[in-house]
Amino acid sequence: MTDTTTVMVTGATGYVAGWVVKGLLEAGHTVHAPVRDPGRQDKLAPLQALADAAPGSIRFFQADLLDEGSYDEAAQGCTVIYHTASPFSLDYKDAQSELVDPALKGTRNVLGTANRTDTVTRVVVTSSCAAIYGDNADMQDMPGQIMTEAVWNTLSSLEHNPYQYSKTVAERAAWELAEAQDRWSLVVVNPSLVLGPAIHPQQVTSESFDLIKQFGDGTLKMGVPHLGLCCIDVRDLAQAHLAAGFAEQANGRNIISTTDTTMMGIADALRPKYGDSHPLPKSHAPKWLVWLVGPLQGLSRKFVSRNVGYELRADSSKAQRELGLQGRPLQETVEDMFGQMLEAGRI
Ligand code: NAP
Repeated sequence: MTDTTTVMVTGATGYVAGWVVKGLLEAGHTVHAPVRDPGRQDKLAPLQALADAAPGSIRFFQADLLDEGSYDEAAQGCTVIYHTASPFSLDYKDAQSELVDPALKGTRNVLGTANRTDTVTRVVVTSSCAAIYGDNADMQDMPGQIMTEAVWNTLSSLEHNPYQYSKTVAERAAWELAEAQDRWSLVVVNPSLVLGPAIHPQQVTSESFDLIKQFGDGTLKMGVPHLGLCCIDVRDLAQAHLAAGFAEQANGRNIISTTDTTMMGIADALRPKYGDSHPLPKSHAPKWLVWLVGPLQGLSRKFVSRNVGYELRADSSKAQRELGLQGRPLQETVEDMFGQMLEAGRI
């Protein structure tokens, strides 16, 4: 499929989706963007500006993940649906209503729209590596001790790692709905931690930014937990989304991750440019200390026990082969993100 077409993107105001929308507009597609609040000019203007500078065009609609049928109007005439909308926040009071309901009911809602829209032939769901593992320690029991598409997160729950749980139940629901019909094919992208600059740095709410802020604001200056991370640049993730929507051979789950690192690896990547001007961590905080103070910073003792001291590795060879996934160096990713956050006054 190389012709231009009409595509719906849920969560277009989000960090990840911003770059997906940019790529679609640059390829000349018409983007239908159902958003929660079409009155939020601060969130919509940057997307309109992308469209004004590209061959494609954008139209905004109103919809909410929890409002059954609200995506139907925006989906009219679309051949591809990208479902990226889902809350990514570790700051919640009630995990069921703030994380699990929008993720699970939202996925059923949007895929229900796909079922009612005759023109749709492909649905791309933005899941997460969180649907593959919950804690870093889970990797110890995976075949080859590496994340692959064959593995599912079975250990997260409403009580422990509810964000990971929300992504797991939502992706499972997507596969159930896909298997119950035969008009549209489902392609799932499973990104690891997404880093890199935002389309609209002032408005972005993604948890990715809260993490990077801690490297610049002194939170980690006394030491960083020894914590393995897998990362992907948001711009490379957008390219993978484009391939997932349009490449004939795209199928199944796809781990989108190009760098296996640690929290200290991020500090080291920032150090050459920002080491003199910002309080980047230089040493590891001992695990017993993180265990002791973790709860004050929102980290449960179980999380500390099962994550600190553990590495993480992801196998993205399927996405490299089938979606043409390529990754830029971590240093470029974090320098671009940190520099943009400084400019935007977010650090
Ligand atoms: P984000 O910037 O917070 O974007 C979340 C999007 O979901 C926003 O557009 C938000 O709309 C929308 N949304 C939330 N609740 C909604 C509701 N009830 N109704 C309609 N829209 C709703 O987060 P992100 O990092 O870009 O995440 C996007 C997707 O990527 C999510 O599915 C996330 O799980 C996945 N992902 C992210 C990462 C990462 O490291 N960032 C890693 C793996 C997977 P508003 O603008 O109205 O709030």
